[in-house]
Amino acid sequence: MSAVEHVTCLGCGCACDDITVVVERGRLTEAQRACVLGTAWFGDGQVPQEIRIRGRAGTLERAIAEAAKVLTDAQRPLVYLAGDISCEVQRDAVAIADRLQGAIDSLAGTAGAGVLAAQRRGRAGATLGELRQRADLVVFWGVDPGARYPRYSARYAVDAVGLAAPAGRSSRRVIAVDLGEARGPADADGRVAIRPDAEVDALGTMRATVQGRVAGTNAALAPAIALVHEMTQARYVALVADAEPGPIPLDPDRAEALIALAQALNGRTRCALSTLRGGGNRSGADAVLTWQTGFPFAVDFGRGYPTYRPHAGAAERLAGGEVDAALVIGAPATLPDSVARGLAGVATVAIGPRASAAGWNPVVAVDTGVAGIHEGGTAFRMDDVPLPLRPALEGEDVRSATATVRALRERLEGGA
Ligand code: SF4
Repeated sequence: MSAVEHVTCLGCGCACDDITVVVERGRLTEAQRACVLGTAWFGDGQVPQEIRIRGRAGTLERAIAEAAKVLTDAQRPLVYLAGDISCEVQRDAVAIADRLQGAIDSLAGTAGAGVLAAQRRGRAGATLGELRQRADLVVFWGVDPGARYPRYSARYAVDAVGLAAPAGRSSRRVIAVDLGEARGPADADGRVAIRPDAEVDALGTMRATVQGRVAGTNAALAPAIALVHEMTQARYVALVADAEPGPIPLDPDRAEALIALAQALNGRTRCALSTLRGGGNRSGADAVLTWQTGFPFAVDFGRGYPTYRPHAGAAERLAGGEVDAALVIGAPATLPDSVARGLAGVATVAIGPRASAAGWNPVVAVDTGVAGIHEGGTAFRMDDVPLPLRPALEGEDVRSATATVRALRERLEGGA
């Protein structure tokens, strides 16, 4: 039995890097400090090791050759970055898309509305470490992080002891904003109810109030106005909102309205908007694409250089018949439904954890290990802080995604 400390969990965007993993005979038997979601993400570390070529078992060499043929024969190839791969693999995937003069998109597009709003307006943000140290008022805007980001409150914004919060939870005030069924944490110190269809109006009114531009009173928006007065009196406000899609569709103007409110509050006090992101290193995909191409998602190399089509991501391209072959790198189980549905109609190559179980029947499927469990590299937390991955099962007999994708890249660069 051995224990590996400071392992990073990619079960959600919190990317907790304080996990101790216990290994017995090549299996993970315990992930100490991981939440329920994280424990499920680690599992026992066992992954399939199949290579399938047109439904039959094959060698890696043949799989790479067939994958290269499928992709180079295509007129409009798409590369898609799914979850549970490192930034190093994502970087090679960008090079492949460039080589193919194809399009590339990623899971980062799930929070596309917020990314686009930030590109238009800028963004008043902060690292989670900064929130932990300084926030004295935490406003959860229609989200209880306990469900999808279980340790967010304990590690960062609420319970943790910080410079300006020497007593942790009791040093901070927590407000839950309830938007219909999208409710804030049950144990908040205060609650504000806003009708979901009035959310964007409420955010606009709050911003106008901060800027001293609201005249008269509107009874329906009075709770929101009272809340923003409280926010202006805090020393450091963390405004926390979920950037990922959920069961309740978000107003398309909401992301920009939240950004604008956070920016306005910085004229009176300090406010950081903390947007909650999903796991699998999707924030890394955003970062890698930005540093390699200048754009965070929905990039097209069709003209021989990167162009940005933010409203024509993978799902829209697949639905519109603009793709005739796709390379999916990462865990198929992490794909948005809209992308997975579209892949059923095109020739695909899947490389990643449990690729052989992909529901859309890839022409070539190569199973690999999981970033952070079987292989190292770098991943990004939801606040864009890069973290090293310390795999507990590295060296076990599991195929590397890094080496497999690199082999495909070299094959394509050498002329398939
Ligand atoms: S909060 Fe997220 S990153 Fe942390 S242990 Fe749970 S699933 Fe993993």
